[in-house]
This record gives sequence, C-alpha cells and structure tokens, in this order.
Amino acid sequence: MRARQSPEELKEGVLAGNRGALSRAITLAESSRADDQEQAQELIADLLPETGKAIRVGITGVPGAGKSTTIEALGLQLIKEGHKVAVLVVDPTSARTGGSILGDKTRMNKLSAEEDAYIRPSPSGGVLGGVARKTREAMLLCEAAGFDVIIVESVGVGQSEAELAELVDCLMLLLVPGAGDDLQGIKRGIMELSDLIVVNKADGDRVPLAKRARGDYRHALRMLLPSTPGWETPVQIASATEGTGLAEVWESVEKHRAHLEETGLLEKRRRRQTERWLDSMIEEAVLAAVHARAGVEQAIEQAHDDVDAEKITVPQATQKVIEAAGLDGTK
Ligand code: GDP
Repeated sequence: MRARQSPEELKEGVLAGNRGALSRAITLAESSRADDQEQAQELIADLLPETGKAIRVGITGVPGAGKSTTIEALGLQLIKEGHKVAVLVVDPTSARTGGSILGDKTRMNKLSAEEDAYIRPSPSGGVLGGVARKTREAMLLCEAAGFDVIIVESVGVGQSEAELAELVDCLMLLLVPGAGDDLQGIKRGIMELSDLIVVNKADGDRVPLAKRARGDYRHALRMLLPSTPGWETPVQIASATEGTGLAEVWESVEKHRAHLEETGLLEKRRRRQTERWLDSMIEEAVLAAVHARAGVEQAIEQAHDDVDAEKITVPQATQKVIEAAGLDGTK
C-alpha cells in the first residue's frame, strides 16, 4: 500500500494540478470513514479560496443521446483553446440499483488521454443525494486543481435533472430527434430547467428531422418560464460525431455565462445552491441524530401500530414520537 500523504502534501499536490493528488483527494472525500471525512473536509475548507473560478456546465439527456460523444468532442476543442477540462459523471442509477446504465463501457478514450483533461466517474453506492454531494466536493477539488471548465454529466432519468441544475451554472439538455425524445415525451419541467437545448445527431438523413425538432422546441419554449431570468434558452442543432455545431454550442454557454455575470445572477445562483446544500445536510443530519436516540425506532413502530388500530390520531401519534425522542418542551 502507498504511504499516506500528509494533509499538507495532498493540498500542495492538488494546488499544483497533480492529477494523482486530485484523485486521492476526491477518493478521500468519497470515503465514508470518519477519519477520512475529517481530513477531506479540512482539505476542502483550506482550498475553498481557490474554488469557484470554473465555468460549471451540466449535460443531461437519455442514455444514447450522445452525451459522452459530445463531451469528448467539446472537451478536445476546449483543450485546444487552452482550457483545462474536468468531467464528472453522475450516475443516479448506480446509487439506486448498485448497477449502472453506464456499465463498464469505456468512455471518452481520446479525452482521457489528454494531459489537460480529467475524467472521474460517479462513486457507486450510497444514496442519490449523496452522489450529488460527492460530485459537488469533487467539483470544488477540480477547481482548486486549476480546471477552468467543469462538465458534469448526468443520465436523464426524471429527478436527476433537478439535482444536476443544483450543481451547475448552465444546464444543457441533449436531445435526439425521432428517438422518443419528441416534444410530448419531454417533461416541461426539464425544459424549464435547461439553459441550452441541443438537438444532437443532426447529420446524414437526420438533418431535416433535427431542424424540425429545433423549430418545435423553440415554439414550445415560448410558453415556458425561462431557466434564467432575462435569458432566452437557445435551441441549436449539432452533430457530436461530425463536430458540426459544437463551436456554436460553446458560444452559447459563454454567452449564458456572460449574462449571469453581468446581471449578478452567477453569484446569486451559486449562493442559493450552497444554502440549499447546507439546509438539506442539516435536515439529514438532524433526522439521523433523532433516529439514533434510544427508544425512537420503537416509538415510531408503536405509533404505526396505534394508528393502524385506530387507537389514536396521526397528530397524537406524532406527538408521542416527539416525546419519546425527548424533543417536546425543549424550546
Ligand atoms: P450517451 O449515452 O448519451 O453518453 O451517448 P453516447 O455518447 O455513448 O452515444 C450513443 C451512440 O450514439 C454512440 O453509438 C455514438 O456513436 C452515437 N452518436 C453520438 N453522437 C452522435 C451524432 O452526433 N451523430 C450520430 N450519427 N451518432 C452519434
């Protein structure tokens, strides 16, 4: 086994952009061991002043929409322009089922071979919210390591888009015409969360279909709330395999970023995201602490039995649990 680096060495390694150090730091943050967590949180706290400088982009879409192909093509283009690109993959299915839609498919081979790229798959196991939290910490560590573009990829499976929107500055929705991604199949909620919509696979025979889909989505967007106040969500066509339209896609990401900065919305959005993260962690921790108190689990069971047997009302049963937890009269 490799000798453990001192916290100071790890910090210096991350700040120097050393990918090995970055990987070790992310692994530490993903660990559920208490001593690892303590070290990871100290490290992240130390590095906080070096975070927040990247452009954070989320990409979502159903499996097969072309997310990895798009990220690889975009990433290679951005590296050529002098950017350092980190790709974090959130796979909510791995948390839910232990298996993964992504499987062991080797992805983004060309991009991962680049010196200025860093690709990190989603940690497996744990709860859905946990995956998002770990991704947020990985994102902060990548920023401290000097990556100025962070792309977070998430498989679109309903709930996950809202979680992804909580992590990034700009959410890109990737669609494929004629693949069940027709207008009626896309939930309004997802379109309302999107800052940019890209109809992918606009190549060969599919070009007319893609153009028609672009028109349909533009039309549909007029009836929806914008994702970002004062921003008209663009709908563009692209082909990730041919590379067409991708420069325009990135231009839109940069325009969106400029809009956020000019209006002060960038800071506002990020602050709100951090506040919600804090609130949800507090709620989780408080709930876990209450459940861990002696007698609480039994009191909950008893409450269910009593309500089932129609002995007491639901509010009365709730009050009994509160009393069993010792939380009444402690104002
Ligand atoms: P993901 O599951 O969303 O990450 O999708 P992938 O990037 O793995 O792509 C799924 C399949 O679609 C692969 O076989 C790709 O080669 C193909 N694909 C991706 N983008 C395009 C595109 O722009 N045009 C065409 N014709 N095929 C594409």
